[in-house]
Amino acid sequence: MVKTYKCPGCGADMKYDAEAKKLSCEYCETSLTVDEAKALEETKQQEADDKDSEEVVDETNEADSYGEAGDFIKYKCATCGAELMTDEHTAATFCNYCGSPNLLSERIEGEKTPAMLIPFKITKEKAKEIYYTWCKKGALTPGEFFSQSTLEKMSAIYVPFWLYDYGANVKMRAHCTRVRSEVRGNYRYTHTSHYRVLRDVSAEYLKIPADASQKMPDDVMDKLEPFNYGEMTAFEMPYLSGYMAEKYNFTSEEMAKRVEARVAGYISQEGRSTINGYSTVAVTAKNVWLAKRRASYVMLPVWMLTYRYKGKEHIFAINGQTGKLVGKRPISAGKCLGWYFGMLGVFTLISSLVGVFVL
Ligand SMILES: [Zn+2]
Ligand SMILES: [Zn+2]
Repeated sequence: MVKTYKCPGCGADMKYDAEAKKLSCEYCETSLTVDEAKALEETKQQEADDKDSEEVVDETNEADSYGEAGDFIKYKCATCGAELMTDEHTAATFCNYCGSPNLLSERIEGEKTPAMLIPFKITKEKAKEIYYTWCKKGALTPGEFFSQSTLEKMSAIYVPFWLYDYGANVKMRAHCTRVRSEVRGNYRYTHTSHYRVLRDVSAEYLKIPADASQKMPDDVMDKLEPFNYGEMTAFEMPYLSGYMAEKYNFTSEEMAKRVEARVAGYISQEGRSTINGYSTVAVTAKNVWLAKRRASYVMLPVWMLTYRYKGKEHIFAINGQTGKLVGKRPISAGKCLGWYFGMLGVFTLISSLVGVFVL
């Protein structure tokens, strides 16, 4: 089913406002809390159901999703009826014609419902400002990267993540030495003591995130951490209104391998960090044991911008909660040349000054 949250005041679409932490209407300034929006939607649904049971069910009633074209699935915009083309993992999007936010509720209902979500805190204005300031710092960044039209392309996406809790243990054996030397008479004596060091370290790791969407580049998503999970709230559909959202492509089992490699790295480091005070340390044996405690499905807020420049795709992402930016500044060939000649000028000036002093 395609869903939109309509303003009870004027009937326009309501969007979740990151600043006000409410759903608000751009036209009449009505605002609703997430709970109020949910309650209103349920009442409407109840009324519609009652009406359906009174009337004879309309046989010609078209389903919301009515066909597939290649990898895309067609829906009808809940506001204007235009065709929405989505791939099978889109959970929230916008209508190309009327701009109305459309939530594809069947993709986030039932067992596909995320347990929790971190609502967007960074507004579009703030995200644009963060990106612009960052681009400006790179003196060699081509101007197109932070032109107004590029900034407008920034989109707010709820990215599906699995959060894992793992128990971990490492048993480690190391050969360590302590070296001490002394001078007696004409001789220097070096004493080397050898130690067999054993360690058995356990730890619990909570909320290790792994992005579960194929479309999102893993390395970029990893670098967006940390998120503050203290601000995580129970998932409710109204939060998605006015944002894009993806549903997971990979199940928690499919993602577990990646997370286990990370946890194994953490516990090994933890074990190794307890071996101190030796001249040399050589780990000779290591045994890591991991136990998956649980995995929960959550949605995390990310601002994304992809920009094609000279045939190459550049991806920038901003943590929608903390404002942390991830990306690499491209270098403009033109600006680079300018910089080079600028530097050349400085060098020439310095060398001529040196010349003056020498004379
Ligand atoms: Zn309104
Ligand atoms: Zn529409």
